[in-house]
Amino acid sequence: MNINKNYQNIAESYLFSTIAKKVNEFAQNNTDKKIIRLGIGDVTLPLCKTVVEAIKAAADEMGIKETFRGYGPEQGYDFLKTKIQQYYLSHNVVLDLDEIFISDGAKSDLGNILDLFDFDNTVLVPDPVYPVYVDTNTMAGRKIIYANANADNNFLPLPDTTIKADIIYLCSPNNPTGAVYNKDQLKAWIDYANNNNAIILFDSAYECFITDETLPRSIFEIDGAKTCAIEFCSLSKTAGFTGTRCGYTVVPKDLEFENVNINKMWLRRQTTKFNGVPYIIQRGAEAVFTKEGQKEIQENLNYYKENAKIISDVLKKHNIWHIGGKQSPYIWLKCPNNMTSWEFFDYLLENVQIVGTPGSGFGKNGEGYFRLTSFGSRENTQEAAERLDKLLN
Ligand code: PLP
Repeated sequence: MNINKNYQNIAESYLFSTIAKKVNEFAQNNTDKKIIRLGIGDVTLPLCKTVVEAIKAAADEMGIKETFRGYGPEQGYDFLKTKIQQYYLSHNVVLDLDEIFISDGAKSDLGNILDLFDFDNTVLVPDPVYPVYVDTNTMAGRKIIYANANADNNFLPLPDTTIKADIIYLCSPNNPTGAVYNKDQLKAWIDYANNNNAIILFDSAYECFITDETLPRSIFEIDGAKTCAIEFCSLSKTAGFTGTRCGYTVVPKDLEFENVNINKMWLRRQTTKFNGVPYIIQRGAEAVFTKEGQKEIQENLNYYKENAKIISDVLKKHNIWHIGGKQSPYIWLKCPNNMTSWEFFDYLLENVQIVGTPGSGFGKNGEGYFRLTSFGSRENTQEAAERLDKLLN
């Protein structure tokens, strides 16, 4: 038996373990000081009422012979897919029901989709970005090249036509930078992909934070995307499903490579290796898309957005360069006085007991930058802003 040696090439993820170690050490030596965590990428507000009620009602159904459900359709129940179809239609995207696949979250499908592609493809990944794209392709031994995101391109790299890539990852709104592609910029990527026989894996996990109507929430709002893109979305940040687990993946029926239909291939993959998301959870997800559900989740999203504004305002006041926070829960700032990401991390922890995430943990272009999130409580966010204000004075 030989193991998959590619696993030995995955970089150890020291980022969050190093943060935890530093914070624990500081806390032990400074028991009188309150630490505020603005580094987390997890939501803190609970599921909304309408969702909880739907989950309870579905659990009751499961305890009654007449309404009990066993194995469900691997690609998800029509009641939920219909709601997602209508949601896309509200952004002028027309989808067939069988282009929508219900998943247990974006991370699983972002990794699982790679089953469909050959190992000799070249993968293009933005730097900095969510680390899962690099790690999943490293596990498969694929060659990875990077698209540099930096202050010169507002952290939104565009295609370089002299470079040949087969699988392209785009994340918009981006984690960690909060940068969002506009329609023209996405069109440039779509044209590149269609002209180069490449596929775009579009991660829209944070689409619900977009309020600027001119910015695309889905890549399928742009012409030509259905012949070159797959979209991954999630209810994790939209509706607080990080622990509940539900998302969806859109695989257009027009997507064909080497005369093989990718939608059919994905259906075959899912029906073989996946048994679907629990009925109870899909009923909870359905409730997200009802009128009451949308109203309630919007209240939570507004709460996070207000937190982002509180952080952004104090940075603005002290002329700290930053982006994000408006169409995203993340604020991406340039560390003052040319500090490195980890120097700034230590500086904030020691002086004002604020914990953020060093940008260098998301790729080499993240060095010198820092990520703060709006997922904390209002009280803590306000207190953090006051401490930052004093420190930066
Ligand atoms: N994509 C991005 C860019 C993320 O930041 C995250 C989670 O932080 C995910 C996907 C994973 O989402 P899910 O909880 O649906 O697996």
